Amino acid sequence: MLTSPTPIAAVASLAALAFEPSLLSKLNQLGPRYTSYPTADRFSDAFGVEAYEQAVSDRRAMGARHALSLYLHIPFCDTVCYYCACNKVVSKNLNKAALYLTYLKREIEMQAALFQGMNQVEQLHFGGGTPTYLSDRQMNELMAHLHQHFQFAPDQLGEYSIEVDPRTVTPKRIVTLRRQGFNRLSLGVQDFDHAVQKAVNRIQAEEDTLRIIDAARFAGFRSVSIDLIYGLPKQSLTSIAQTLDKVIAAAPDRIAIYNYAHMPHLFKPQRRIADSDLPTPASKIDMLFLCIQRLTAAGYVYIGMDHFAKPDDDLAIAQRQGRLHRNFQGYSTHAEADLVSCGVSAISAVGASYSQNEKTLEAYYERLDRQLLPIARGIKLSMDDLLRRLIIQHLMCHFELSPASIEMAHPIKFAEYFAKELAQLKLLEADGLLLLEDDWISVTMKGRLLIRNICMVFDRYLDPVKDPVRYSKTI
Ligand code: SF4
Repeated sequence: MLTSPTPIAAVASLAALAFEPSLLSKLNQLGPRYTSYPTADRFSDAFGVEAYEQAVSDRRAMGARHALSLYLHIPFCDTVCYYCACNKVVSKNLNKAALYLTYLKREIEMQAALFQGMNQVEQLHFGGGTPTYLSDRQMNELMAHLHQHFQFAPDQLGEYSIEVDPRTVTPKRIVTLRRQGFNRLSLGVQDFDHAVQKAVNRIQAEEDTLRIIDAARFAGFRSVSIDLIYGLPKQSLTSIAQTLDKVIAAAPDRIAIYNYAHMPHLFKPQRRIADSDLPTPASKIDMLFLCIQRLTAAGYVYIGMDHFAKPDDDLAIAQRQGRLHRNFQGYSTHAEADLVSCGVSAISAVGASYSQNEKTLEAYYERLDRQLLPIARGIKLSMDDLLRRLIIQHLMCHFELSPASIEMAHPIKFAEYFAKELAQLKLLEADGLLLLEDDWISVTMKGRLLIRNICMVFDRYLDPVKDPVRYSKTI
């Protein structure tokens, strides 16, 4: 692939990134994050178990065996964070997790049977909710079950990651997780500032987080990642700067800085956040600039959207080599892998299809009680979907696009097929977000910050006028 992404610090100063307030409010639209295309709100219940099985069998018929990526969703949390938009079950009743695991294991067996002969796993991710809600014993049993039903690549080749809430684990537990087969750890931090933590109901002592990072290094985890959020209530440039200093001192391999999307009409816990405590879009952009400035000055590579990595981290290497991919967990190095996801609400991506499991525990259990995979909805991608997915992926991961390379892979004349889109891109070019040349579309530094706006041009389904409440603001 023809790509040569450049670290943002090498080509832009903060002044070059400054937005006119009027442009900022014009571009601050509602839009998807493109962890998939088409986005999950386009999935339909006309796509069910049969269509999923057909997608697996099409994959089998193609002959070439790709390694699998497995995702397991553990939906339970001890307490609720007010900013949360995840599918989770807040409960202190540990029996709920025990019941869930019996069903999850059943689903794992069914998926393994379907993928028999092509069940080599190179990537495993435990997300939630809070995966560390499970006890050591429950995790041991679940990992043993996975290994009984899937073939795992050796530790040095596979990426086996788990999201860890530092409030739920001890350094000893971290050593156990490494022994259980995990080699990558992602820690939820959000912000070290106490006022912000209080405003979002997530009090997390800084010393505990740092102790867990030390324990992960001691235990031999290959990579430690920290998740932060900007745009939270009570957050300011000063609080963000202090948090960044502490994070940089802790030197994680990857840092994700997510944009808080305040959508209380969709996510009930967010109703506990007062609008008046939220930073303005202009100060959110300043926060993002500050993050980019501080992290790139500290030697991190800006991967895109919300991700930073050390130059020798697999993500940065994959981007340099044009192998970067985007999926439901954000950026990924495994472009060719089918994603098989188990658990309530989990989304799989197999061949030219996406499918999502039932979203409530009751419906998820009910399907499995009937010996059915708990798939509730999905979509089979058309040729047009695949083409647009390729373009959106490319823009998200590499910030440039060669229409000629698209024409080589698809039987279209780019300028004709995307005439309407090119006219829209011209307007974004005038706003300074990209450069349109005959043989390249190149995203500028400003455009990188608003890459969602650029990708939205290629989204055939998008109709923010008809569906204004489904998406978050792009800033
Ligand atoms: S943010 Fe994470 S830990 Fe907090 S409630 Fe949501 S899923 Fe649970």
